[in-house]
Formats: sequence, C-alpha cells, structure tokens
Amino acid sequence: MNIKEEIKEIMPEVINLRRTFHMHPELGFQEFETSQIISSYLENLGLEVKKNIAKTGVLGILKGKEEGKTVLIRADIDALPIEELNDVPYKSKNKGAMHACGHDGHTAILLGTAKVLTKYKDLLKGTVKFAFQPAEELPPGGAELMIKEGILENPNVDKVYALHLANHLPAGKIGIREGIFCAQADAFTIKVKGKGGHGSAPDKTVDPIIISTYIVQALQVIPSREIDPHTPFVLSVCKIQSGNAFNVIPEEAEIKGTVRSFDKMLAEKVAKRIEIISKNIAQAFRGEVELEYEFGYPPGKNDEKEAKFVRKIAEEVVGKENVEEDKPSMGGEDFSYFLEERPGVMFWLGSRNEEKGLIHPHHSSYFDFDESVMAIGIEMFVRIVLENLL
Ligand SMILES: [Zn+2]
Ligand SMILES: [Zn+2]
Repeated sequence: MNIKEEIKEIMPEVINLRRTFHMHPELGFQEFETSQIISSYLENLGLEVKKNIAKTGVLGILKGKEEGKTVLIRADIDALPIEELNDVPYKSKNKGAMHACGHDGHTAILLGTAKVLTKYKDLLKGTVKFAFQPAEELPPGGAELMIKEGILENPNVDKVYALHLANHLPAGKIGIREGIFCAQADAFTIKVKGKGGHGSAPDKTVDPIIISTYIVQALQVIPSREIDPHTPFVLSVCKIQSGNAFNVIPEEAEIKGTVRSFDKMLAEKVAKRIEIISKNIAQAFRGEVELEYEFGYPPGKNDEKEAKFVRKIAEEVVGKENVEEDKPSMGGEDFSYFLEERPGVMFWLGSRNEEKGLIHPHHSSYFDFDESVMAIGIEMFVRIVLENLL
C-alpha cells in the first residue's frame, strides 16, 4: 500500500476537477451542474449514489468487504456571490459567482479521496459515506437539512470528519484544535422608527438618527460591561442606514450587525439584551424599534479524543513541526451541526503560498489557494478512514 504514490498519480485529475468547479461556481442550493459532476464521478467509481439530498446535495456510499463502523467525510460544494478578479486560465465563467472560500478544492479533495479508497474497498471493515453538502455559505445552510434527511442513518454514522482550506496558514501546515474551533455567527437588524420632518424644525420630529447613535453606543456596553472578560465575544454594528437629504429628518433608520460567540446560551442572552437596550433607548427618545435576531450556525466543537487521533495522523503526514494548535476562528461553519450529532473533527489545511502570490483571504475577489496541498488533504482523509476501518 503506497498511499502517497497513488495520490500523486491522481493529482492531475484532482486539479482538473477543482478547476472545472472553479470555472463553473454555483451559489447555495443551486449547485445543479456541480452535483451532476459529483454524482457521475462517484457512479463511475462504482459507489452507491444518493442524489438531491437537501435539494442539491449528494451522498456517495462505499461499502467495505466486511461489516463495521461507518465514517462520514463532508465537503461543502457552494460558491459565493462575489465577482472574481483573478487573471487565471480557470477564472469563473459565471458572472457574480466565485469559489472564493475554497469549496471547489474541498469537493475535488473528497472526490480524490473516494477514488483512492475505492482501491482499498476489499480491505475495509465498514462503510465510508462521502457527503457533498450544498449551501454552507447561505444560512440556515445545507448541513442541518442533510442531517434531517437522514444521511447519518442507514447505516448509522459513528464519526464525522471535514477539512477547510486555510489561507491564514502556509501550505504544508495543518491546524487542529481540541474543543471549540469556530464561533456561532448571528445577525441582527434593528429598525428604528421615528417621525420625519424638516431639518430646521427638529422639535416637530422624532429623529431616528439620534436614537440610532445612542443604540450603537449602548450596545458596546454588552461586551465591555456584561460579559466575562475571559470569554471571547464580538458585537459589531456593520451597517447603519437612514435619510437622503441634508435638510430632512427621516422617518426611519436601520442598524445591522453581527454577534460572535462560542456559547449558544450566551448568544441567547445577548439577543435579549439587544432587544431591551434598543427598545428602552428608543422609548426614552419617543421612538420605537423592531428587532430581528437570526441565530447562526452553532459553535463548531471538535471531539477531544478525535482531535488527538487526527493530530497524530497529521503529524505522520506533514511532520510534527507542521501541525499547529491554531486559534479558534470567529467565523461560522455549518459542519458544527454534524459535530453536534456525532464525534468528529474539522481541521484546517494550510493553503497560503507567498511565492506564488496566493496570499488573499477567503471571501476576497482575489482568493486563490495552493492546489498542491489538495494531495495532503486526500492523504489525511484516506489515513483517517483506514485507521478507523482496517
Ligand atoms: Zn466561506
Ligand atoms: Zn468555507
């Protein structure tokens, strides 16, 4: 069994797949062409394939010769509503859509993994499920829906794994955390209602702009005075919109922002505090507010035992010196729904390459990653499965 050699052989095909996905990016729940390519590829490998799970999701099932545990590996397959500004031969052909988070790479890595593992089919004691998930970037996302549609059952899944390409880590490095690795990312909108009028006669109005400025300031009291200083927490107002003339006090204002935390219960408390603070401020100044609070994906939490297990494999694949603990991210990730249901791990696959100019962050119009690291991703997944099922 020479895994590295087998992966090397299929790398041109994996890169080709990644570029095909990159050229034809599709947004959440619209990944029709993408899932078509995925299903045909898996069918050609001889896998059992289930289509249209959570609209555009695909599940490939590889059964070993003997019964045993079931391991699920997940790749997200959706793109973002971003216009690509890279000048590369595989530039996006779909206007206004771009694989700017690396999900094209995740999909190609998982297809490559399926190809390699198919060769070891007769050695496997158990089952591998390859889950291609739609709409990671589009809350409420595709993960929860795929789980609701039963992909963790029949046969019952024992463990779940995923990776994310990471341009904050150099190519050749792997980041793994035990426990929390990413945040719950919530969104809120506060509509402030006043009474419009002439800018020269403010006494005849209820000014929603004044009310909004007080609300924005007061909300910062939540992180600074209401939350344990040792608890990672972010509350950012990122949009405030009102009015369109220098001499008109508008009727309404709108405040939008995000809350990031590592604790579901804390997020629920904060949602209530935002409501009380903004309502009372508005009332004090004779206005009204309406709050819409959307809870995002739950915080991502790796199982500690599984994280140790994956770390050991990572040390074999890239060397001990290249495995990092890495800080938890304040970003959200819907693989957290899988990790709420079953023990498992999501790890970061370093993909930054200064020499090749691959330095842009995820979700940038210039995002691109070092394709050679896909070989590391495949090796990680193949070894994780073999360690579980040999
Ligand atoms: Zn993303
Ligand atoms: Zn992503």
